[in-house]
Amino acid sequence: MAVALDAILARIKDVCKRNGLLILSVLSVTIGCLLGFFLRTRRLSQQEISYFQFPGELLMRMLKMLILPLVVSSLMSGLAALDAKTSSRLGIITVTYYLWTTFVAVVVGIIMVSIIHPGGAAQKESTEEGGKPIMSSADALLDLIRNMFPANLVEATFKQYRTRSIPIIKSNKASSESTTRRIIIYGVQDENGSNVQNFALDITPPPEVIYKSEPGASDGMNVLGIVIFSATMGIMLGRMGNSGVPLVSFCQCLNESVMKIVAVAVWYFPFGIVFLIAGKILEMDDPSAIGKKLGFYAITVVCGLVVHGLFILPMMYFFITKKNPIVFIRGILQALLIALATSSSSATLPITFKCLLENNHVDRRIARFVLPVGATINMDGTALYEAVAAIFIAQVNNYELDFGQIITISITATAASIGAAGIPQAGLVTMVIVLTSVGLPTDDITLIIAVDWALDRFRTMINVLGDALAAGIMAHICRKEFIKDGDELEEGLFALNRKVDLPPPCLYWS
Ligand code: ASP
Repeated sequence: MAVALDAILARIKDVCKRNGLLILSVLSVTIGCLLGFFLRTRRLSQQEISYFQFPGELLMRMLKMLILPLVVSSLMSGLAALDAKTSSRLGIITVTYYLWTTFVAVVVGIIMVSIIHPGGAAQKESTEEGGKPIMSSADALLDLIRNMFPANLVEATFKQYRTRSIPIIKSNKASSESTTRRIIIYGVQDENGSNVQNFALDITPPPEVIYKSEPGASDGMNVLGIVIFSATMGIMLGRMGNSGVPLVSFCQCLNESVMKIVAVAVWYFPFGIVFLIAGKILEMDDPSAIGKKLGFYAITVVCGLVVHGLFILPMMYFFITKKNPIVFIRGILQALLIALATSSSSATLPITFKCLLENNHVDRRIARFVLPVGATINMDGTALYEAVAAIFIAQVNNYELDFGQIITISITATAASIGAAGIPQAGLVTMVIVLTSVGLPTDDITLIIAVDWALDRFRTMINVLGDALAAGIMAHICRKEFIKDGDELEEGLFALNRKVDLPPPCLYWS
């Protein structure tokens, strides 16, 4: 009896030791939710809420701090370690796979929103601004391409190019004539014919407003531009042979040291998650009022995400690799919880790396390429949500979409998700591309804002899941090129591939 008890205790100890951080993270999500709802009853002031959110804010800042060195170092060192044939094969397969899964996610979203039809239950409230375009879809697409090639690399680390729509009141002769103030005064008479009340009716036609596109910038790192630059540098370094080795070694060291910082910082995360989640719950509007208006819409998005994330993506993983997807997903649970807490796939990137390397043993050369590219362009959850949201807005407006428009939505939702940055609620901004492509009012984005912060957390989880499963699939597809032989290091392979001398061993990490 005592022996059996000892064995159970030893087993529990072992599980806690191996999964301690994961267990702490799950606990902190639960405690964060409970604490948030409890504190809502205390009616804290804005100031108190902002102090309360401080530990969560620190968590976000720590993660964001690591994005730049991690993305640059992993892409440069990862791609430099591959020969030209392998890197182009890996690049083509990865990008094709990403586009395919994103498109499948959009199709799932369209099917869900057509079946559930959440727009029927929602009431449209009139918005005050009426018809003001935020940005045309052509401008949004051109900005995406401009951001791929940042004019100033230093600026790209904290700013993105963003075209602004400036309203201009037309002042040509015709319009100034038409904008002359015209007032009709008329009165109401009693039965004796004398005026009892006078009215002034202003019939001045409203001035014509046109929108002019002007170059501008918005805050936030231009991850897409940095990814493209780093990937190109990595490929070129790989071709440079001996002369590229010092920079490659530097990037490898940088990458490893960032991962070591991550290994220390993760112990703060469970604490930060409690405040991050509770703080967000404190900020949200009355959940019952939102639920009545947008409940069906939220259910549609969540159902779509569940179908895509729990069935379609794992099935693809299973059919391609013939391995158990549940085991793989268990290995990245911590990254999924961080995605839930932060709503940012870029901020989750360091943890996704850690989980894939340590728990799922994905080849680091694959992870170094597939993950940063995925966190930037592969957003299945965002694409699904954009398609659902656009069709929901059409349903609310009683706007019948024909087949051609549905196809347009599926293509633009895929493009919009590629353009969305891996930061909180970026999908809401790129929604404008989808809405304008089929002539839906961009102002109606305000209809879905109330639930967006919550849905963003779930779609970010699916975005991260999609990237991680892609890394697992690529590791399987390219396993022959990436001979994993006991202690053989990528650095060794790099040297063999390039037929160059290894730099001093002190520069290498095992
Ligand atoms: N928050 C999402 C992400 O970081 C992007 C979005 O859908 O808004 O992946």
